[in-house]
Amino acid sequence: MPELSEVRAHAERLNDRYAGGELAQFAALSFTALKTFDPPPDRAVGAQLAGVSQRGKYLLLGFGEVTYVVHLMQGGRLRDDQRQARRPRNGVARWVFADGRALLLSEAGTEHKAGVWVVGGDPLESEQLAGLGPEADTIDAEGLRQLLRDHPMRLHGLLRQQKQIAGIGRRLANEICHRAQLSPFQPTAKMTEQDASGLVAAMQAVIADDLETERARDDMSSSRQRPSAVHGRTGEPCSVCGDQVREVAYRAYTVHYCATCQTSGKVLADNTTSKFLK
Ligand SMILES: [Zn+2]
Repeated sequence: MPELSEVRAHAERLNDRYAGGELAQFAALSFTALKTFDPPPDRAVGAQLAGVSQRGKYLLLGFGEVTYVVHLMQGGRLRDDQRQARRPRNGVARWVFADGRALLLSEAGTEHKAGVWVVGGDPLESEQLAGLGPEADTIDAEGLRQLLRDHPMRLHGLLRQQKQIAGIGRRLANEICHRAQLSPFQPTAKMTEQDASGLVAAMQAVIADDLETERARDDMSSSRQRPSAVHGRTGEPCSVCGDQVREVAYRAYTVHYCATCQTSGKVLADNTTSKFLK
């Protein structure tokens, strides 16, 4: 799933290409595209795109009084639509501009979870966005210490809780834990001030590296193209210490880690009944 860095770099790219464009038409192409009914989705027709921005894992297409809030979920993409086919493959929604260009939201796969929320007024106050925590790369050491204290759980889980920290998903959580040399299963309540400082530094460094990679591209990367130290690298040597990268697989996702770098060499059992994981 695209996370903070992919979505932010893509918002910047779309903003460069489309800001100022006048909306000529908005069309929902699938039954699951629209997640709201008020204001009506064509309310922004005739308005100029003030800008494209990012909040957490969401893209925001702001047309003044109306904002389209887009979530790409797992397989969604928002791209230049050169063909503008009547029924584009995997099409979810389309924005056509007065100059003839168009943006197409598509979603590969069968989940049909990507969608568009049409929001009037301040989008940051909308139901989708108001409950998000601060952007992951804006949290400082004190803010993070507070989060760790207030939310006793496993570190990997807290990092992915959008209500506490916005923009981090499975890949960034794996990468940040590895960069900070912390176990993804570390109980947050037991983390020291030093752990928190290291975690903040790792969070900022991983996101900064990611943004640099994404900003150098013409389009959002696919998950295979994203650089990683541990994410998706089970069995490969750790780039820091040479030990092999290990995994703990859950039904919906996999935690990747290096035992030497992160768990004092302790290998965590690869099943969800392990006592370490409860
Ligand atoms: Zn290692």
